[in-house]
Amino acid sequence: MPNMINYHFHDEFSADGAGPLALHCAAANGSFRAICITNHAETMDSERAWRADPDEMIDRFLRNAESVTAAAVRYPELDIRLGVELEYRREWRAPFERLLYEVPFDFVLGSVHIVDGLNISGGRDVDAYFLPRSQRQAYEAYFRQVDEMVDWGAFDVVAHFDLIKRYGHRHYGSFAPRTYRSCIEPILAKMARNHIGIEINTSGVNQAPGVPYPEPEILEWANQVGVETLTIGSDSHSPDRFAQGLEAGMRLALETGWNEFTLYEARRPAERIEIRTHRHVPG
Ligand SMILES: [Zn+2]
Ligand SMILES: [Zn+2]
Repeated sequence: MPNMINYHFHDEFSADGAGPLALHCAAANGSFRAICITNHAETMDSERAWRADPDEMIDRFLRNAESVTAAAVRYPELDIRLGVELEYRREWRAPFERLLYEVPFDFVLGSVHIVDGLNISGGRDVDAYFLPRSQRQAYEAYFRQVDEMVDWGAFDVVAHFDLIKRYGHRHYGSFAPRTYRSCIEPILAKMARNHIGIEINTSGVNQAPGVPYPEPEILEWANQVGVETLTIGSDSHSPDRFAQGLEAGMRLALETGWNEFTLYEARRPAERIEIRTHRHVPG
């Protein structure tokens, strides 16, 4: 029985995604057991500014929910869930809380891509963020924003915990989590206390860092401080990338002391499934 899962991917209901859900399901069918679509809640307007308009979001995700229902009929072997990826900003708390109230999501990711008003994960903002900052200034400001998001807590799992390394890597070289342990570990401990999980995001395999998010040490610390749930996602934005890096991500989980991924239903951990890679088949 297929045991792969993908709990982070985007389709045409995301400002940056492509293709209908059925094509993503076709890519998953046969080798995946459970998938969860996690489109971005916010959208980009004609001036390339991000907006979080509650009415627009509610309408779009209710239509996304209909596409999940239709896909579940077409792919009965796949457990298909409706999720969302929220970009944490203090001013977007209220619109997101309304969205979560109105749409019956199974799973909610919390993300930080914007720090000090600048997008640290792509586009023109990247140099504007990193060039005037030391590595310590750049990374600590990012982790402060993650910490504030965890204080808010209206989501289930922190996505790509060390996304700052995506371009930080280019500016300062590889990221050594130990240097930032004093700001990372308290965030993980707070996640454990508040039943917020962590994600292995394998998009980093095909980006500059060449490895998944987060670094192995962060997954080990998360395990040690008692973070309860781990999910995995490719963060793909088109069907041809659906499974990118997931095998590497599953090996990373096993190497850092995790044995199970958690599946969610109606915003609650519903089932744990054992992680098995091709190299790890018993017997
Ligand atoms: Zn993201
Ligand atoms: Zn994403």
